[in-house]
Amino acid sequence: MRDSIYTIPVSEVFEPMDGCPICRLRDTLEKRCVEYIMGAAMMEPDIREETNKAGFCSFHFQKMLHSRNRLSIALMLESHLDYIKKDIFGQKQRVDVKQGIFRKGDSRLDQTKNMTKTCYVCDKIQWALSRMVDTTLNLWEKEESFRELYAKQPVLCLEHYTLLADRAQAKMSRKSLPGFMEATTSLTTKYLDQLKEDVSSFCRLYDYRNAGKGEPEESVVTSVERAIWYLTSRNPSQDDNASTN
Ligand SMILES: [Zn+2]
Ligand SMILES: [Zn+2]
Repeated sequence: MRDSIYTIPVSEVFEPMDGCPICRLRDTLEKRCVEYIMGAAMMEPDIREETNKAGFCSFHFQKMLHSRNRLSIALMLESHLDYIKKDIFGQKQRVDVKQGIFRKGDSRLDQTKNMTKTCYVCDKIQWALSRMVDTTLNLWEKEESFRELYAKQPVLCLEHYTLLADRAQAKMSRKSLPGFMEATTSLTTKYLDQLKEDVSSFCRLYDYRNAGKGEPEESVVTSVERAIWYLTSRNPSQDDNASTN
């Protein structure tokens, strides 16, 4: 089953206790998806059909550029461009002469609009993440030991706090929801409180009154990058380091 590459045990997500567990899960899913489509799956007609239609976002094109040789990405691009050429621009287009615009529904504009909004990797990650989040909510409701493990997580970034809280509001029982929300909010706010302090300390480094007071702490030096990560779920240097991930 090719979907099995997107199945990751919950223990692998929550037991390492290193940063945001959902960021780590997302990174693993992303790595597996990119490796899969750049490897043998690239030549499989049904995968090719999906990548031709969905295309990729700029971030995941970057990941692909860094991950393997250029031939893999060139073959995928060749097929994707050919699809755009033949299936979108190669079809006869009905034009509404009165308004000078394409008719709704069958226009190539609709097709290009859709394509610019989709990414094969983003779509797969989103699908796999929502399945994992449902498993997480289920476990939290059923198992005391998992509730303890969940509460010990070092942080939830803002994006993944939002993902978990939003899914919980839609899926969780009224009985479990308040406790889950409290635990989840606490994971993101305890980090936020310290982060805000660290960024303030970073700003104070530039105050002349603090000149010559010695080396700042590591947590202060890294606070700007960590704040950007906390707000976006992406490390600002991640793009540059893609080849070493
Ligand atoms: Zn995260
Ligand atoms: Zn993407």
